[in-house]
Amino acid sequence: MNRYAVVQEIQQRAADVPVGDSIRMVCPHCNGGSTHESSMSIKRYNETTAGFICYRANCDLGSGRVALFEEDGKLLTAKSDAISKERPEPSLFSLSQDAVDLLTTKYHMTENHIRYAGIRLTYDQRIAVPLNGPNRERPGILIKKEKELYRGTREYSTIPAKWLYIRGDKSNLASWYRAYRHNKKNSSTLVVVEDVLSAVRLSDFTDSVALLGTHMLRGVIEDIKRQGYEKVFIALDNDATKKAFNLVRRLSSELPVSVMYLERDIKGMKHAELTKLMKHYEVI
Ligand SMILES: [Zn+2]
Repeated sequence: MNRYAVVQEIQQRAADVPVGDSIRMVCPHCNGGSTHESSMSIKRYNETTAGFICYRANCDLGSGRVALFEEDGKLLTAKSDAISKERPEPSLFSLSQDAVDLLTTKYHMTENHIRYAGIRLTYDQRIAVPLNGPNRERPGILIKKEKELYRGTREYSTIPAKWLYIRGDKSNLASWYRAYRHNKKNSSTLVVVEDVLSAVRLSDFTDSVALLGTHMLRGVIEDIKRQGYEKVFIALDNDATKKAFNLVRRLSSELPVSVMYLERDIKGMKHAELTKLMKHYEVI
């Protein structure tokens, strides 16, 4: 098993560990040696992060951290570099013409969207989207590999398709965008989506927030409540419709929530199609 697969397995197990608890297991990297001892310890720090370490002296996996954000039914791997303690903050570069073309064609973005979101590139041509806190803080960066652009000279097993560089507080980690690309609350409706690029597209119509997965953190719920939206739509991708309904049920006592049904991902819709959807739900 390569290191990335090992880390993914650890991540799957970590997702089942209750917050604050630890478990011991046989290390999937060294297999616990000939006696198959449970030399791996996984500790779930909080809802979104777990740490792991293998105590066997001759196991070279060492320790690391895994992020537990879910997207498309799969866990999103961040900081999955098995050996690193902390990844350094990535250096970011201006978008290439190829990157602009990709964002324009694949995700129907305009220059205004791209500028508003502050999208840039990493050294190996991955898309970097800075996250926006509810008060324009910058809690982190989402790094996303697009196969059309990625120029990694080697396919390191620990370079995931997506990861989050997180600066500080994770308890309300999400990315906020405002109607007509303002800096503050600018509509009476909020649309909650899974991914950042969809949320950026919605800035043509309404305020929106990207959960960076399908899980809604308590801190994000509190941020939404504090801003006093009259209507909150949960617009998860159509493979997560059941999750959307569950979220609505869970939140209905504290927020004016309902489901916005999507036939496909917002970032894949053309402007006219998205306009129609917004009209249908009376967002505009
Ligand atoms: Zn080991």
